[in-house]
Amino acid sequence: MLDKFQLTVPEPDIYRIGQYRPVSIRDQVIRASFLIERLWTTGRLKSTSKLLVIGAGAAGVTAAVKAVHFGVTQVRVADVSDRVLSLQAGCTTRWLDPAQYDWPASHWDKEVWPVDEPTSFPYPTATKLSAVVNLEADYADEWSANFAFALSVYESAGSVNFVPGVKVVDWTFSTTKACYEVEFDDAATKTSKGSLDADVIIFAGGFGKELVSVPAWPLGSGTYSSIPFWSDDAFEQPNFGLASLNLGMLVSGAGDGSLQDFIRLVSGQRSAREVWKAVEPALSPTAHRAFERLVDWDRNSQDAEQFAPAYGSMCERLAALHARYQAEVQRLRGSVAEWAAVAAALDALIPTARPTDKVFLALKSAHFDGCYSLNRLVTLLLIEYVQHKHPGHFPVFVGVGIRGVVPTYTLPTGGTAILVVVALSTTCETTAAEIANWPGQGGARPFDGIVIRHGIDTTALSVKSAKLAPQVVPSHLP
Ligand SMILES: Cc1cc2nc3c(=O)[nH]c(=O)nc-3n(C[C@H](O)[C@H](O)[C@H](O)COP(=O)(O)OP(=O)(O)OC[C@H]3O[C@@H](n4cnc5c(N)ncnc54)[C@H](O)[C@@H]3O)c2cc1C
Repeated sequence: MLDKFQLTVPEPDIYRIGQYRPVSIRDQVIRASFLIERLWTTGRLKSTSKLLVIGAGAAGVTAAVKAVHFGVTQVRVADVSDRVLSLQAGCTTRWLDPAQYDWPASHWDKEVWPVDEPTSFPYPTATKLSAVVNLEADYADEWSANFAFALSVYESAGSVNFVPGVKVVDWTFSTTKACYEVEFDDAATKTSKGSLDADVIIFAGGFGKELVSVPAWPLGSGTYSSIPFWSDDAFEQPNFGLASLNLGMLVSGAGDGSLQDFIRLVSGQRSAREVWKAVEPALSPTAHRAFERLVDWDRNSQDAEQFAPAYGSMCERLAALHARYQAEVQRLRGSVAEWAAVAAALDALIPTARPTDKVFLALKSAHFDGCYSLNRLVTLLLIEYVQHKHPGHFPVFVGVGIRGVVPTYTLPTGGTAILVVVALSTTCETTAAEIANWPGQGGARPFDGIVIRHGIDTTALSVKSAKLAPQVVPSHLP
Protein backbone atom coordinates (compact mmCIF):
# COMPACT_ATOMS: atom_id res chain seq x y z
CA MET A 1 0.00 0.00 0.00
CA LEU A 2 2.77 2.44 0.90
CA ASP A 3 4.46 1.82 -2.40
CA LYS A 4 1.27 2.91 -4.15
CA PHE A 5 1.52 6.30 -2.47
CA GLN A 6 5.22 6.64 -2.89
CA LEU A 7 7.18 8.65 -5.35
CA THR A 8 9.88 6.88 -7.26
CA VAL A 9 13.21 6.03 -5.69
CA PRO A 10 15.64 7.59 -4.82
CA GLU A 11 13.19 9.66 -2.75
CA PRO A 12 11.90 7.04 -0.37
CA ASP A 13 10.32 9.31 2.21
CA ILE A 14 8.06 11.33 -0.06
CA TYR A 15 4.44 10.34 -0.44
CA ARG A 16 1.48 11.94 -2.07
CA ILE A 17 -2.28 11.90 -1.61
CA GLY A 18 -3.53 13.87 -4.58
CA GLN A 19 -4.63 13.04 -8.10
CA TYR A 20 -6.50 9.88 -7.28
CA ARG A 21 -9.86 8.65 -8.40
CA PRO A 22 -12.38 8.65 -6.97
CA VAL A 23 -11.73 11.87 -5.12
CA SER A 24 -14.02 13.24 -2.46
CA ILE A 25 -13.40 14.74 0.95
CA ARG A 26 -14.23 11.39 2.50
CA ASP A 27 -11.86 9.52 0.17
CA GLN A 28 -9.08 11.97 0.98
CA VAL A 29 -9.65 11.68 4.72
CA ILE A 30 -9.46 7.89 4.42
CA ARG A 31 -6.37 7.93 2.21
CA ALA A 32 -4.56 10.31 4.55
CA SER A 33 -5.55 8.27 7.60
CA PHE A 34 -4.37 5.00 6.08
CA LEU A 35 -1.15 6.52 4.83
CA ILE A 36 -0.18 7.87 8.25
CA GLU A 37 -1.19 4.66 9.97
CA ARG A 38 0.99 2.58 7.63
CA LEU A 39 3.93 5.00 7.86
CA TRP A 40 3.77 4.79 11.62
CA THR A 41 3.33 1.03 11.93
CA THR A 42 6.19 0.35 9.49
CA GLY A 43 8.50 2.71 11.36
CA ARG A 44 8.90 5.09 8.42
CA LEU A 45 7.35 7.84 10.57
CA LYS A 46 8.62 8.15 14.15
CA SER A 47 7.89 10.44 17.09
CA THR A 48 11.15 12.26 16.33
CA SER A 49 10.45 12.64 12.59
CA LYS A 50 10.19 16.09 11.09
CA LEU A 51 7.06 15.72 8.96
CA LEU A 52 6.22 18.27 6.27
CA VAL A 53 2.73 18.18 4.80
CA ILE A 54 2.37 20.23 1.62
CA GLY A 55 -1.22 21.40 1.25
CA ALA A 56 -3.80 22.25 3.91
CA GLY A 57 -6.78 20.68 2.17
CA ALA A 58 -8.80 17.82 3.62
CA ALA A 59 -5.99 15.35 2.90
CA GLY A 60 -3.19 17.49 4.34
CA VAL A 61 -5.03 18.46 7.52
CA THR A 62 -6.08 14.87 8.13
CA ALA A 63 -2.51 13.64 7.61
CA ALA A 64 -1.15 16.25 10.04
CA VAL A 65 -3.70 15.58 12.74
CA LYS A 66 -3.39 11.80 12.39
CA ALA A 67 0.39 12.04 12.67
CA VAL A 68 0.03 13.94 15.95
CA HIS A 69 -2.38 11.29 17.22
CA PHE A 70 0.29 8.69 16.66
CA GLY A 71 2.87 10.75 18.56
CA VAL A 72 4.73 12.81 15.94
CA THR A 73 5.59 16.13 17.56
CA GLN A 74 7.14 18.14 14.73
CA VAL A 75 4.52 18.51 12.03
CA ARG A 76 4.48 21.41 9.59
CA VAL A 77 1.64 22.08 7.18
CA ALA A 78 2.48 24.50 4.36
CA ASP A 79 -0.02 26.03 1.97
CA VAL A 80 -0.06 28.58 -0.83
CA SER A 81 -3.17 30.02 0.75
CA ASP A 82 -3.48 31.52 4.19
CA ARG A 83 -6.63 29.46 4.78
CA VAL A 84 -7.37 25.85 5.51
CA LEU A 85 -9.39 24.02 2.82
CA SER A 86 -8.77 27.05 0.64
CA LEU A 87 -10.56 25.44 -2.30
CA GLN A 88 -13.86 25.42 -0.43
CA ALA A 89 -13.30 28.35 1.94
CA GLY A 90 -15.59 31.30 1.32
CA CYS A 91 -18.23 29.32 -0.55
CA THR A 92 -21.44 29.75 1.40
CA THR A 93 -23.90 28.62 -1.24
CA ARG A 94 -22.62 25.20 -2.16
CA TRP A 95 -23.20 22.07 -0.18
CA LEU A 96 -20.33 19.70 0.46
CA ASP A 97 -21.65 16.24 0.94
CA PRO A 98 -19.22 13.34 1.22
CA ALA A 99 -21.93 10.70 1.36
CA GLN A 100 -23.53 11.92 -1.86
CA TYR A 101 -20.81 10.11 -3.74
CA ASP A 102 -21.33 6.84 -1.90
CA TRP A 103 -24.90 6.48 -3.04
CA PRO A 104 -26.48 3.94 -2.80
CA ALA A 105 -24.19 2.47 -0.12
CA SER A 106 -26.06 1.55 3.03
CA HIS A 107 -24.76 4.46 5.09
CA TRP A 108 -25.61 7.07 2.47
CA ASP A 109 -28.93 8.29 3.82
CA LYS A 110 -27.73 8.14 7.43
CA GLU A 111 -24.80 10.50 6.86
CA VAL A 112 -22.71 8.22 9.00
CA TRP A 113 -19.08 7.50 8.40
CA PRO A 114 -17.39 5.05 8.48
CA VAL A 115 -19.88 2.56 7.10
CA ASP A 116 -21.97 1.30 9.99
CA GLU A 117 -21.85 -2.32 8.95
CA PRO A 118 -20.34 -5.00 11.17
CA THR A 119 -16.70 -5.43 10.31
CA SER A 120 -13.55 -6.57 11.96
CA PHE A 121 -11.45 -4.27 9.80
CA PRO A 122 -9.91 -1.45 11.85
CA TYR A 123 -11.05 1.68 10.01
CA PRO A 124 -9.49 4.90 11.22
CA THR A 125 -12.48 6.88 12.40
CA ALA A 126 -13.38 10.37 11.30
CA THR A 127 -14.32 11.29 14.84
CA LYS A 128 -10.69 10.93 15.79
CA LEU A 129 -9.80 13.72 13.38
CA SER A 130 -11.42 16.06 15.82
CA ALA A 131 -14.63 16.13 17.74
CA VAL A 132 -15.66 19.17 15.72
CA VAL A 133 -15.23 17.71 12.25
CA ASN A 134 -18.40 15.93 11.25
CA LEU A 135 -18.38 14.26 7.90
CA GLU A 136 -21.90 15.37 7.10
CA ALA A 137 -23.44 17.54 4.43
CA ASP A 138 -22.62 21.16 5.21
CA TYR A 139 -21.86 24.41 3.42
CA ALA A 140 -18.36 24.34 1.94
CA ASP A 141 -17.19 27.32 4.01
CA GLU A 142 -18.25 25.58 7.22
CA TRP A 143 -16.08 22.62 6.30
CA SER A 144 -13.13 24.94 5.96
CA ALA A 145 -13.84 26.45 9.37
CA ASN A 146 -14.18 23.01 10.97
CA PHE A 147 -10.91 21.72 9.56
CA ALA A 148 -9.17 24.98 10.50
CA PHE A 149 -10.41 24.59 14.05
CA ALA A 150 -9.23 20.97 14.20
CA LEU A 151 -5.78 22.06 13.09
CA SER A 152 -5.66 24.98 15.48
CA VAL A 153 -6.23 22.67 18.45
CA TYR A 154 -2.94 20.93 17.67
CA GLU A 155 -1.22 24.21 16.81
CA SER A 156 -2.00 25.50 20.30
CA ALA A 157 -0.55 22.31 21.75
CA GLY A 158 2.65 23.04 19.82
CA SER A 159 2.77 19.83 17.78
CA VAL A 160 1.58 21.35 14.48
CA ASN A 161 2.84 24.46 12.79
CA PHE A 162 0.70 25.86 9.94
CA VAL A 163 2.85 27.82 7.47
CA PRO A 164 0.46 29.92 5.35
CA GLY A 165 1.12 31.84 2.13
CA VAL A 166 4.06 29.76 0.94
CA LYS A 167 4.55 27.66 -2.13
CA VAL A 168 6.82 24.65 -1.93
CA VAL A 169 8.89 24.78 -5.09
CA ASP A 170 11.52 22.09 -4.72
CA TRP A 171 13.21 19.61 -2.44
CA THR A 172 16.59 17.90 -2.45
CA PHE A 173 18.07 15.27 -0.20
CA SER A 174 21.03 16.55 1.81
CA THR A 175 23.41 13.73 2.58
CA THR A 176 25.22 15.85 5.16
CA LYS A 177 22.01 16.59 7.07
CA ALA A 178 20.47 13.18 6.24
CA CYS A 179 17.12 14.80 5.51
CA TYR A 180 15.33 16.76 2.80
CA GLU A 181 15.87 20.47 2.30
CA VAL A 182 12.61 21.93 1.12
CA GLU A 183 12.55 25.27 -0.67
CA PHE A 184 9.70 27.76 -0.31
CA ASP A 185 8.61 30.81 -2.24
CA ASP A 186 6.42 33.54 -0.87
CA ALA A 187 3.19 32.65 -2.69
CA ALA A 188 2.29 36.30 -3.34
CA THR A 189 5.65 37.76 -4.38
CA LYS A 190 7.09 34.52 -5.84
CA THR A 191 10.39 35.31 -4.15
CA SER A 192 12.36 32.80 -2.13
CA LYS A 193 11.42 32.43 1.51
CA GLY A 194 14.23 30.07 2.35
CA SER A 195 14.13 26.40 3.19
CA LEU A 196 13.37 23.99 5.99
CA ASP A 197 14.34 20.42 6.84
CA ALA A 198 12.06 17.44 6.70
CA ASP A 199 12.53 13.70 7.20
CA VAL A 200 9.23 12.74 5.64
CA ILE A 201 7.24 14.75 3.09
CA ILE A 202 3.58 14.21 2.25
CA PHE A 203 2.49 16.02 -0.87
CA ALA A 204 -1.23 16.73 -0.47
CA GLY A 205 -1.38 19.46 -3.09
CA GLY A 206 -4.72 18.53 -4.62
CA PHE A 207 -5.43 17.28 -8.09
CA GLY A 208 -5.04 20.26 -10.38
CA LYS A 209 -6.50 23.49 -11.62
CA GLU A 210 -10.15 23.91 -12.48
CA LEU A 211 -10.83 24.85 -16.11
CA VAL A 212 -13.42 27.64 -16.16
CA SER A 213 -12.23 29.71 -19.13
CA VAL A 214 -12.74 29.68 -22.90
CA PRO A 215 -11.31 32.02 -25.54
CA ALA A 216 -13.01 35.36 -25.94
CA TRP A 217 -14.36 35.82 -29.47
CA PRO A 218 -12.89 36.83 -31.88
CA LEU A 219 -9.97 34.56 -31.13
CA GLY A 220 -6.93 36.35 -29.84
CA SER A 221 -8.94 38.89 -27.86
CA GLY A 222 -8.24 37.27 -24.49
CA THR A 223 -10.20 34.78 -22.43
CA TYR A 224 -13.64 34.65 -20.91
CA SER A 225 -13.93 33.16 -17.42
CA SER A 226 -17.04 31.99 -15.67
CA ILE A 227 -17.34 31.49 -11.92
CA PRO A 228 -15.24 28.80 -10.22
CA PHE A 229 -17.13 25.85 -8.80
CA TRP A 230 -16.38 26.73 -5.19
CA SER A 231 -17.58 30.33 -5.24
CA ASP A 232 -20.83 31.88 -4.13
CA ASP A 233 -23.58 31.72 -6.71
CA ALA A 234 -27.29 32.40 -6.94
CA PHE A 235 -28.26 29.25 -8.83
CA GLU A 236 -31.14 28.51 -6.50
CA GLN A 237 -32.67 31.97 -6.90
CA PRO A 238 -35.71 32.25 -9.19
CA ASN A 239 -33.71 33.96 -11.96
CA PHE A 240 -30.37 32.24 -11.15
CA GLY A 241 -28.99 35.62 -10.05
CA LEU A 242 -29.10 36.99 -13.60
CA ALA A 243 -30.18 40.55 -14.39
CA SER A 244 -32.60 39.17 -16.97
CA LEU A 245 -33.64 35.67 -17.89
CA ASN A 246 -35.01 35.58 -21.42
CA LEU A 247 -32.48 33.54 -23.36
CA GLY A 248 -31.43 31.05 -20.74
CA MET A 249 -28.41 29.82 -18.83
CA LEU A 250 -25.88 27.54 -20.53
CA VAL A 251 -23.84 25.01 -18.56
CA SER A 252 -20.94 23.71 -20.62
CA GLY A 253 -19.28 20.46 -19.57
CA ALA A 254 -20.09 16.80 -19.07
CA GLY A 255 -18.55 16.06 -15.68
CA ASP A 256 -19.81 16.10 -12.11
CA GLY A 257 -19.44 19.88 -11.79
CA SER A 258 -21.68 20.64 -14.76
CA LEU A 259 -24.22 17.97 -13.85
CA GLN A 260 -24.45 19.36 -10.33
CA ASP A 261 -24.96 22.85 -11.70
CA PHE A 262 -27.62 21.65 -14.14
CA ILE A 263 -29.40 19.88 -11.27
CA ARG A 264 -29.26 22.94 -9.02
CA LEU A 265 -30.40 25.34 -11.73
CA VAL A 266 -33.31 23.18 -12.86
CA SER A 267 -34.51 22.02 -9.45
CA GLY A 268 -33.59 24.99 -7.25
CA GLN A 269 -32.29 22.40 -4.76
CA ARG A 270 -28.87 22.35 -3.15
CA SER A 271 -27.69 19.11 -4.71
CA ALA A 272 -28.68 15.84 -6.35
CA ARG A 273 -29.28 14.46 -2.90
CA GLU A 274 -32.40 16.58 -2.27
CA VAL A 275 -33.84 15.65 -5.66
CA TRP A 276 -33.24 11.95 -5.14
CA LYS A 277 -34.77 12.07 -1.67
CA ALA A 278 -37.96 13.41 -3.24
CA VAL A 279 -38.00 11.01 -6.20
CA GLU A 280 -37.02 7.77 -4.52
CA PRO A 281 -40.27 7.15 -2.58
CA ALA A 282 -42.20 7.64 -5.84
CA LEU A 283 -40.28 4.96 -7.73
CA SER A 284 -41.89 1.62 -8.44
CA PRO A 285 -40.02 -1.40 -7.01
CA THR A 286 -39.14 -2.32 -10.61
CA ALA A 287 -37.50 1.04 -11.32
CA HIS A 288 -35.76 1.07 -7.96
CA ARG A 289 -34.25 -2.37 -8.54
CA ALA A 290 -33.24 -1.42 -12.06
CA PHE A 291 -31.40 1.69 -10.84
CA GLU A 292 -29.64 -0.27 -8.13
CA ARG A 293 -28.49 -2.83 -10.68
CA LEU A 294 -27.28 -0.05 -12.95
CA VAL A 295 -25.18 1.56 -10.24
CA ASP A 296 -23.74 -1.81 -9.35
CA TRP A 297 -22.88 -2.48 -12.97
CA ASP A 298 -21.40 1.01 -13.27
CA ARG A 299 -19.05 0.52 -10.30
CA ASN A 300 -18.04 -2.99 -11.29
CA SER A 301 -17.34 -1.99 -14.87
CA GLN A 302 -15.09 0.84 -13.65
CA ASP A 303 -13.15 -1.53 -11.42
CA ALA A 304 -12.96 -4.22 -14.09
CA GLU A 305 -11.65 -1.66 -16.58
CA GLN A 306 -8.46 -1.36 -14.56
CA PHE A 307 -7.70 -5.04 -15.04
CA ALA A 308 -9.14 -5.92 -18.42
CA PRO A 309 -10.21 -3.05 -20.65
CA ALA A 310 -13.38 -4.16 -22.40
CA TYR A 311 -13.77 -1.21 -24.74
CA GLY A 312 -11.51 0.30 -27.36
CA SER A 313 -11.62 3.72 -25.76
CA MET A 314 -12.86 5.52 -22.68
CA CYS A 315 -15.40 7.23 -24.92
CA GLU A 316 -16.90 3.86 -25.91
CA ARG A 317 -17.20 2.80 -22.28
CA LEU A 318 -18.81 6.08 -21.27
CA ALA A 319 -21.20 5.91 -24.21
CA ALA A 320 -22.25 2.38 -23.25
CA LEU A 321 -22.69 3.45 -19.65
CA HIS A 322 -24.73 6.48 -20.62
CA ALA A 323 -26.94 4.42 -22.93
CA ARG A 324 -27.76 2.00 -20.12
CA TYR A 325 -28.82 4.75 -17.72
CA GLN A 326 -30.71 6.57 -20.42
CA ALA A 327 -32.58 3.44 -21.53
CA GLU A 328 -33.75 2.83 -17.96
CA VAL A 329 -34.83 6.44 -17.44
CA GLN A 330 -36.69 6.38 -20.75
CA ARG A 331 -38.37 3.08 -19.87
CA LEU A 332 -39.56 4.79 -16.69
CA ARG A 333 -40.88 7.74 -18.62
CA GLY A 334 -42.63 5.38 -21.06
CA SER A 335 -44.59 3.74 -18.26
CA VAL A 336 -47.54 6.07 -17.74
CA ALA A 337 -48.30 5.20 -14.13
CA GLU A 338 -44.68 4.99 -13.00
CA TRP A 339 -43.72 8.29 -14.61
CA ALA A 340 -46.81 10.06 -13.26
CA ALA A 341 -45.66 9.28 -9.72
CA VAL A 342 -42.11 10.57 -10.43
CA ALA A 343 -43.37 13.72 -12.16
CA ALA A 344 -45.76 14.40 -9.25
CA ALA A 345 -42.86 14.09 -6.79
CA LEU A 346 -40.82 16.56 -8.83
CA ASP A 347 -43.82 18.89 -9.19
CA ALA A 348 -44.09 18.94 -5.40
CA LEU A 349 -40.37 19.73 -5.08
CA ILE A 350 -39.90 22.28 -7.85
CA PRO A 351 -42.04 25.44 -7.76
CA THR A 352 -44.30 25.76 -10.83
CA ALA A 353 -42.84 29.16 -11.66
CA ARG A 354 -39.25 27.89 -11.80
CA PRO A 355 -37.93 28.46 -15.35
CA THR A 356 -36.89 24.84 -15.93
CA ASP A 357 -36.89 25.43 -19.69
CA LYS A 358 -34.24 28.14 -19.38
CA VAL A 359 -31.36 25.82 -18.43
CA PHE A 360 -29.23 24.20 -21.15
CA LEU A 361 -26.44 21.68 -20.98
CA ALA A 362 -23.77 21.62 -23.71
CA LEU A 363 -21.94 18.30 -24.16
CA LYS A 364 -18.99 17.72 -26.47
CA SER A 365 -20.40 14.28 -27.26
CA ALA A 366 -23.66 12.41 -26.75
CA HIS A 367 -22.72 11.18 -23.30
CA PHE A 368 -21.65 12.44 -19.90
CA ASP A 369 -18.12 12.08 -18.62
CA GLY A 370 -17.05 9.71 -15.83
CA CYS A 371 -19.51 10.89 -13.17
CA TYR A 372 -20.85 9.76 -9.85
CA SER A 373 -23.97 7.65 -10.31
CA LEU A 374 -26.29 9.92 -8.39
CA ASN A 375 -25.40 12.99 -10.47
CA ARG A 376 -25.78 10.99 -13.68
CA LEU A 377 -29.12 9.49 -12.79
CA VAL A 378 -30.69 12.64 -11.34
CA THR A 379 -29.56 14.71 -14.34
CA LEU A 380 -31.14 12.23 -16.75
CA LEU A 381 -34.35 12.21 -14.71
CA LEU A 382 -34.47 16.01 -14.73
CA ILE A 383 -33.85 16.16 -18.49
CA GLU A 384 -36.92 13.93 -18.95
CA TYR A 385 -38.86 16.05 -16.46
CA VAL A 386 -38.06 19.30 -18.29
CA GLN A 387 -39.24 17.74 -21.55
CA HIS A 388 -42.37 16.48 -19.84
CA LYS A 389 -43.13 20.00 -18.56
CA HIS A 390 -42.24 21.66 -21.87
CA PRO A 391 -43.14 19.33 -24.76
CA GLY A 392 -40.95 19.88 -27.80
CA HIS A 393 -38.21 21.54 -25.79
CA PHE A 394 -34.81 19.81 -25.52
CA PRO A 395 -32.43 21.12 -22.86
CA VAL A 396 -29.26 19.34 -24.03
CA PHE A 397 -26.95 20.34 -26.90
CA VAL A 398 -25.03 17.31 -28.10
CA GLY A 399 -21.70 17.34 -29.95
CA VAL A 400 -21.04 20.99 -29.18
CA GLY A 401 -17.72 22.54 -28.20
CA ILE A 402 -17.38 26.20 -27.23
CA ARG A 403 -15.01 27.98 -29.59
CA GLY A 404 -15.36 31.34 -27.97
CA VAL A 405 -17.60 33.81 -26.20
CA VAL A 406 -18.54 37.41 -26.94
CA PRO A 407 -19.16 38.62 -23.37
CA THR A 408 -21.24 41.66 -24.33
CA TYR A 409 -23.07 41.01 -27.56
CA THR A 410 -25.68 43.49 -28.78
CA LEU A 411 -28.83 41.62 -29.70
CA PRO A 412 -30.62 42.56 -32.94
CA THR A 413 -33.69 43.20 -30.79
CA GLY A 414 -31.76 45.50 -28.47
CA GLY A 415 -30.09 44.79 -25.16
CA THR A 416 -27.01 42.66 -24.61
CA ALA A 417 -26.30 38.99 -24.06
CA ILE A 418 -23.42 36.55 -23.96
CA LEU A 419 -22.90 35.16 -27.44
CA VAL A 420 -21.57 31.61 -27.50
CA VAL A 421 -19.76 30.60 -30.69
CA VAL A 422 -19.63 26.85 -31.10
CA ALA A 423 -18.02 24.01 -33.03
CA LEU A 424 -20.49 21.32 -34.08
CA SER A 425 -20.08 17.53 -34.29
CA THR A 426 -17.36 17.37 -31.68
CA THR A 427 -16.68 14.22 -29.65
CA CYS A 428 -15.55 13.78 -26.08
CA GLU A 429 -12.03 13.31 -27.38
CA THR A 430 -11.92 16.61 -29.27
CA THR A 431 -9.36 18.84 -27.59
CA ALA A 432 -9.75 22.52 -26.69
CA ALA A 433 -7.11 23.39 -29.33
CA GLU A 434 -9.04 21.48 -32.02
CA ILE A 435 -12.26 23.25 -31.05
CA ALA A 436 -10.57 26.65 -31.24
CA ASN A 437 -9.34 25.81 -34.75
CA TRP A 438 -12.56 24.11 -35.87
CA PRO A 439 -12.95 24.27 -39.65
CA GLY A 440 -15.74 26.68 -40.40
CA GLN A 441 -17.99 28.25 -37.81
CA GLY A 442 -20.52 25.88 -36.22
CA GLY A 443 -22.92 28.60 -35.22
CA ALA A 444 -23.63 31.03 -32.42
CA ARG A 445 -26.39 31.46 -29.87
CA PRO A 446 -26.95 34.11 -27.22
CA PHE A 447 -27.54 33.33 -23.54
CA ASP A 448 -28.14 35.42 -20.44
CA GLY A 449 -25.53 33.50 -18.47
CA ILE A 450 -22.94 30.81 -19.02
CA VAL A 451 -21.16 28.44 -16.66
CA ILE A 452 -18.01 26.68 -17.84
CA ARG A 453 -17.14 23.39 -16.21
CA HIS A 454 -14.45 22.00 -18.43
CA GLY A 455 -12.76 19.76 -15.91
CA ILE A 456 -9.52 19.82 -13.99
CA ASP A 457 -6.08 20.34 -15.48
CA THR A 458 -4.17 17.69 -13.56
CA THR A 459 -0.88 18.77 -15.11
CA ALA A 460 -1.10 22.15 -13.41
CA LEU A 461 0.42 20.94 -10.15
CA SER A 462 3.46 22.95 -9.36
CA VAL A 463 5.89 20.97 -7.24
CA LYS A 464 8.06 18.67 -9.30
CA SER A 465 4.98 17.88 -11.27
CA ALA A 466 6.87 15.63 -13.68
CA LYS A 467 7.43 13.25 -10.82
CA LEU A 468 3.79 13.18 -9.87
CA ALA A 469 2.49 10.82 -12.53
CA PRO A 470 -0.99 9.46 -11.79
CA GLN A 471 -1.09 6.19 -9.89
CA VAL A 472 -3.79 3.63 -9.46
CA VAL A 473 -4.63 3.00 -5.83
CA PRO A 474 -7.03 0.56 -4.22
CA SER A 475 -10.05 2.38 -5.56
CA HIS A 476 -13.04 2.84 -3.31
CA LEU A 477 -12.05 2.12 0.25
CA PRO A 478 -15.13 1.60 2.38
C1 LIG B 1 -15.78 20.88 -8.96
C2 LIG B 1 -15.54 20.02 -7.75
C3 LIG B 1 -16.60 19.61 -6.93
C4 LIG B 1 -16.40 18.79 -5.84
N1 LIG B 1 -17.46 18.44 -5.02
C5 LIG B 1 -17.23 17.66 -3.92
C6 LIG B 1 -18.27 17.33 -2.99
O1 LIG B 1 -19.40 17.79 -3.08
N2 LIG B 1 -17.98 16.48 -1.96
C7 LIG B 1 -16.73 16.00 -1.77
O2 LIG B 1 -16.50 15.26 -0.83
N3 LIG B 1 -15.74 16.34 -2.61
C8 LIG B 1 -15.96 17.14 -3.68
N4 LIG B 1 -14.95 17.47 -4.53
C9 LIG B 1 -13.66 16.90 -4.31
C10 LIG B 1 -12.93 17.63 -3.20
O3 LIG B 1 -12.91 19.00 -3.48
C11 LIG B 1 -11.56 17.07 -3.13
O4 LIG B 1 -11.67 15.71 -2.87
C12 LIG B 1 -10.74 17.67 -2.02
O5 LIG B 1 -10.77 19.06 -2.02
C13 LIG B 1 -9.33 17.20 -2.20
O6 LIG B 1 -8.66 17.51 -1.05
P1 LIG B 1 -7.10 17.60 -1.06
O7 LIG B 1 -6.70 17.92 0.32
O8 LIG B 1 -6.52 16.37 -1.67
O9 LIG B 1 -6.73 18.77 -2.08
P2 LIG B 1 -7.13 20.33 -2.07
O10 LIG B 1 -8.37 20.58 -1.32
O11 LIG B 1 -7.03 20.77 -3.48
O12 LIG B 1 -5.94 20.98 -1.23
C14 LIG B 1 -4.65 21.10 -1.78
C15 LIG B 1 -3.97 22.26 -1.11
O13 LIG B 1 -2.59 22.22 -1.46
C16 LIG B 1 -2.14 23.54 -1.67
N5 LIG B 1 -0.94 23.45 -2.52
C17 LIG B 1 -0.85 22.93 -3.78
N6 LIG B 1 0.41 23.03 -4.24
C18 LIG B 1 1.15 23.58 -3.23
C19 LIG B 1 2.52 23.93 -3.09
N7 LIG B 1 3.39 23.72 -4.05
N8 LIG B 1 2.93 24.50 -1.93
C20 LIG B 1 2.07 24.74 -0.92
N9 LIG B 1 0.75 24.43 -1.02
C21 LIG B 1 0.29 23.86 -2.14
C22 LIG B 1 -3.31 24.26 -2.31
O14 LIG B 1 -3.24 25.65 -2.07
C23 LIG B 1 -4.49 23.61 -1.57
O15 LIG B 1 -4.91 24.36 -0.44
C24 LIG B 1 -15.13 18.33 -5.59
C25 LIG B 1 -14.05 18.75 -6.39
C26 LIG B 1 -14.25 19.60 -7.45
C27 LIG B 1 -13.08 20.09 -8.27
